[in-house]
Amino acid sequence: MKTKIQELKQKFNIELADVRDTKTLEELRLSFFSKKGYISALMKELGKVPAEQKKEFGQIINGFKQELSDRFDEARRELVEREEELAVNCAEAYDESMPTVNPGGSYHPITLIQRELEDIFRSMGFDVEDYNEIVDDYHCFEALNIPKFHPARDMQDTYYLDTPNQLLKSHTSAAQNHIMMKYGRALKEQNRPIRAVFPGRCFRNEAIDACHENTFFQMEGIMIDKDISISNLIYFMKTMLSEVFERDITVRLRPGFFPFVEPGFELDIQCLICGGDGCPSCKNSGWLELCPCGMIHPNVLKYGGINTEEEPYQYTGFAFGLGLTRLAMMKYGIKDIRVFNEADLNALSQFVSK
Ligand SMILES: [Zn+2]
Repeated sequence: MKTKIQELKQKFNIELADVRDTKTLEELRLSFFSKKGYISALMKELGKVPAEQKKEFGQIINGFKQELSDRFDEARRELVEREEELAVNCAEAYDESMPTVNPGGSYHPITLIQRELEDIFRSMGFDVEDYNEIVDDYHCFEALNIPKFHPARDMQDTYYLDTPNQLLKSHTSAAQNHIMMKYGRALKEQNRPIRAVFPGRCFRNEAIDACHENTFFQMEGIMIDKDISISNLIYFMKTMLSEVFERDITVRLRPGFFPFVEPGFELDIQCLICGGDGCPSCKNSGWLELCPCGMIHPNVLKYGGINTEEEPYQYTGFAFGLGLTRLAMMKYGIKDIRVFNEADLNALSQFVSK
């Protein structure tokens, strides 16, 4: 058995001298240490050794194992160092003047649809506003006519932060109050109607599947002036949708309850796939639900500093909350909402700007 161990030592020395990378080193290690390796074979032979010699041979084998193990570790350390050095040198050899092979980046489908909508609304006289992702309870709920403990809060499973009173905005409506405050004075003093859209990322604690995400995008829009009515709302929505889908779009309103509008509606568009005849995409109804909207509730106007009663400043307005994510799914025929947040470049790079 001693001769056997000597032979194995020699074999190991010869093979280790030829090892040039960590991969080959690992192969060598397995040839000794795996279940079918040389060490296992030695241990089996130990079983046949006479009882009085077992202790001695056991110690020899263990010493051999330890020696091999130490030398593997040492060899691995050296190889890893050498490989890292090589990687750094290769990186330094990168030549930025070389022509690119990659065709270049592309915009995210949400960015594309958002920019398209911003252009359409700008052309209709709307300002495009930005707003925070972390908001306070007042702006997200109370200023929208949803008092504390109101059951309507259950409609949105909200992420509250550790900081008291702070949360991730669950809808873009959270910016309504801020916009009214910002433009209210120009409305009153210069008769300049408030017309604004504000796109943004929203967060709700949803279980994620093909139709639900915990992070999604909306675009809120409000218009406030004298004599604003539901027909103004329908006109703007129809014009905007016809531009987005590049064809005439038929819309309908159904009554819907949202505490910040009165009356409130769900706006549906006629199914783009079957043209209203009924198909699996529209669950055979011929209509697709697109966005909640309605006439801004007088309380919400009041919280925003907009006068609704005193002559001659009786203002009314409409608001809508367009699902940008849903619109992008419809426009680009994306069937799984998870595509948007998965950072899969193969899926996302297919969408190109017009
Ligand atoms: Zn259909």
